[in-house]
Amino acid sequence: MKVSELFGKGRTVMSFEIFPPKKTGSIESVYSTIDELAELRPDYISVTYGAGGNVANTSTRDIAAHIKNECGIEAMAHITCVNNSRDEVLTVMDGFKDAGIENILALRGDKSPDRPPKTDFKYASELITFIRQHEKYNNIGISGACYPEGHTEAEDLAEDILNLRKKVDAGAEELITQLFFDNRFFYDLREKAKIAGINVPISAGIMPVTSKSQIERMVTMCGASLPQKFVRMVTKYENKPEALIDGGIAYAADQITDLLANGVEGIHIYTMNNPYVAKKLVSIIEKLL
Ligand code: FAD
Repeated sequence: MKVSELFGKGRTVMSFEIFPPKKTGSIESVYSTIDELAELRPDYISVTYGAGGNVANTSTRDIAAHIKNECGIEAMAHITCVNNSRDEVLTVMDGFKDAGIENILALRGDKSPDRPPKTDFKYASELITFIRQHEKYNNIGISGACYPEGHTEAEDLAEDILNLRKKVDAGAEELITQLFFDNRFFYDLREKAKIAGINVPISAGIMPVTSKSQIERMVTMCGASLPQKFVRMVTKYENKPEALIDGGIAYAADQITDLLANGVEGIHIYTMNNPYVAKKLVSIIEKLL
């Protein structure tokens, strides 16, 4: 089932995001994490794609196939194009299709200074156009990424939204946001997207933060701003790891409660492969969805 068909049914769609194990980790360790997350019955679980975009790296496919075929939960496999040629994209897509995966998150991927990008695709919208040119993928749902504070390479949010419209016009049927800690950025994006004629559901990406180093990493990677309320919470509990986890969950629950009250269509939880945190968060929000 295409993920876009989950929307518009009178309740908010709840999804999780997980990542494959690092090169040294075992895939089995992720399967036990997924089995615990599956007990929470999210509407779908998405699986990230290694930044290197190596075709030989099949763990995204195998994990998404486990979610779909063993757990009976809709799966979404991420795919990036910055380091893939057209032929390599087709190889990855055929692998997804053969494994029964019906949804992808089509991304450009981050450019790495250590690895010059391949030249077949410049933007995610080109990847989506290319996939949509192939009839054999007609049954595969395509989602795209969006950025409440604007993508770091865009001049401003207005320019980024014009580019986002190209992604939707190319065939993205749902959008998932980068994480954010101040809901005002999400409402701003949603309003401006509507004005730009973007009419697909936008799921809000929420990350319950659990450690100070995680916050620092995230801010460096995606440039999310940290509101005073959040900074005060982190500063108060930064030397009490267990309290910081509870604070992070409470902050995320508060953000989600406000989003739900304001009619958000989807909540996408960046689980960081931590079922304990996901379970605690879901226990607070599940009746509100
Ligand atoms: P694009 O949509 O191509 O946008 C990139 C930049 O180009 C933006 O500044 C945009 O404004 C601009 N642009 C777009 N189209 C045009 C155009 N036609 N003309 C001019 N400018 C244009 N990365 C991974 O490596 N693996 C993952 O699994 C992964 N999962 C993610 C999941 C989510 C929900 C999100 C939000 C991000 C994820 N990322 C992942 C990170 C993502 O790859 C980076 O943010 C990347 O820098 C941009 O990807 P994109 O698909 O949004 O790119």
